[in-house]
Amino acid sequence: MTTNEQSVSTTNNFLRTIIDEDLKSGKHSGVVTRFPPEPNGYLHIGHAKSICINFGLANYFGGRCHLRFDDTNPAKEEQEYIDSIKGSVSWLGFDWGTHLYYASDNFEQLYLWAEYLIEQGKAYVEDLNAEQIRANRGTLTEAGTESPFRNRTVAENIELFRRMKSGEFPDGSRVLRAKIDMASPNMNMRDPVLYRIIHAPHPHVGDKWKIYPMYDFAHGQTDAIEGITHSICTLEFESHKPLYEWFLDNLPIPYRPRQYEFARLNLTYTVMSKRKLQELVQLKLVNGWDDPRLPTLEGLRRRGYTPASIRDFCDQIGVGRSDSWIDVSILEESVRSDLNESAPRVMAVLKPIKVTIKNYPDDLVEDFEIANHPQKPEMGIRTVHFSREIWIDRDDFMEIPSKGFHRLTVGGEVKLRFGYIITCTGVVKNDDGTVSELHCEYDPASREGIHTADGRKVKGVIHWVSASHAVTAEVRLFDRLFSDPNPDRGGIDYKQFLNPDSVEILRDCKVEWSLADADLETRYQFERTGYFRQDPKDSRTAGLVFNRIATLRDVWAKK
Ligand code: ATP
Ligand code: MG
Repeated sequence: MTTNEQSVSTTNNFLRTIIDEDLKSGKHSGVVTRFPPEPNGYLHIGHAKSICINFGLANYFGGRCHLRFDDTNPAKEEQEYIDSIKGSVSWLGFDWGTHLYYASDNFEQLYLWAEYLIEQGKAYVEDLNAEQIRANRGTLTEAGTESPFRNRTVAENIELFRRMKSGEFPDGSRVLRAKIDMASPNMNMRDPVLYRIIHAPHPHVGDKWKIYPMYDFAHGQTDAIEGITHSICTLEFESHKPLYEWFLDNLPIPYRPRQYEFARLNLTYTVMSKRKLQELVQLKLVNGWDDPRLPTLEGLRRRGYTPASIRDFCDQIGVGRSDSWIDVSILEESVRSDLNESAPRVMAVLKPIKVTIKNYPDDLVEDFEIANHPQKPEMGIRTVHFSREIWIDRDDFMEIPSKGFHRLTVGGEVKLRFGYIITCTGVVKNDDGTVSELHCEYDPASREGIHTADGRKVKGVIHWVSASHAVTAEVRLFDRLFSDPNPDRGGIDYKQFLNPDSVEILRDCKVEWSLADADLETRYQFERTGYFRQDPKDSRTAGLVFNRIATLRDVWAKK
């Protein structure tokens, strides 16, 4: 997909209905949405839902979606996150065009609006510290207590606020609060903090400011400045909506955006809070923010998820207003069904055991021309070599077969995918009794079909790689990071549910010759094994390294 044909969701939802009505009634003549990340971490699959909703709705209605950094807290924000977020949104296939904004670009205007509220007697400088403010806030059943500083004069408030701005006071010594209602049943309306003192440079506006607006004081006003028609956020902001509207009502802002909430994405077998993701990275329980087991977009991208599969997933889960859990198997299935269509097939032996075909000529090499995709002739063909020594997967052989085992056993026969039927005539063992090599014989007449020369049908078909043509590769088999569907259940340390087998590294895999110069972007189906792509970071330095994106089938469904 190119950036000028952006993705449009095909499924209907309640937000689309609202916008449709607003356009029909003439309330709005066009649609402007925004995706507003705070640049204090990397994006995860939950953010992808929000991105697909905001960009998807704008695209559907021929409007536009802004990328806006909600950068009001320099203590936690970094340029690195800004760059990564931009990269992830583009990678998902969305284009903000010229509409890249920073809440911090409005700091001057927001400051003037704060002074306006002071002049109207609707804001005051608070000298109580954070703990005292909290103690005076009251509870859900009890009203809060008004601050002794609540009735300062306008002149005194202006003077103190300007001195806060000029950097005269240390961090945390004073804040600016709105004067609303300490008895409001909505805690957000009990004189919320508007500005705090932070002596820290800001990643976007440098060290100009010593005071910074709170999220609530910045968000709605920034929506208004940008001309956002539908400000779409997750349900936890529902209780902030009266405050969002209070600012718009009490400031000289002619334009009125509206806030709509939807349920956030909760995904099983993972954690999504930025704080927990950060902790996993910092404690080195994963290898960085782009660890392929993480639900971060950088992680999913590195693992091999396609943007199309993530958009498709977001489409499938829909948009609603009630909190629900989505099983991670739905995400896995969306990448499987995408790659089933698009991934070329190859053969790779992950746990190799050598097979010598005793009756095959020593010096012969046959070239088999094999389709890259069984249903898609347009994907072309490749050459696979066959010779006297091949690798097969250790798991495809059993010396003493269990019931129902239809692959290779001593004296038994098996069909090599695209190749001959072979019969195992003997095993070579190491001193410790483990099998080191298999001796086989092939049936020269059995290249086509699955019948032996005398017409017996062979049940098992296995993959293989010619030993003298194989390329050695490292393969990383990723599995779910947590072994419990809900590790983040509160009360229990989520880290105790980490899956000890979330990655298995196989260093001596044998892959077919055609993969020697595979490019980094191509995703492959390793026949019978799963979907893989080269690790974009380590494949450059460490020879061929493949990441397993997904197994061929849902192996957790059985567990
Ligand atoms: P987290 O809770 O993971 O730390 P956040 O909400 O603090 O994330 P923001 O940068 O503020 O992260 O999020 C940007 C946008 O993405 C917000 O509009 C937020 O509602 C939305 N968003 C965040 N998490 C999810 C989620 N799990 N599902 C859907 N939307 C989400
Ligand atoms: Mg947030």
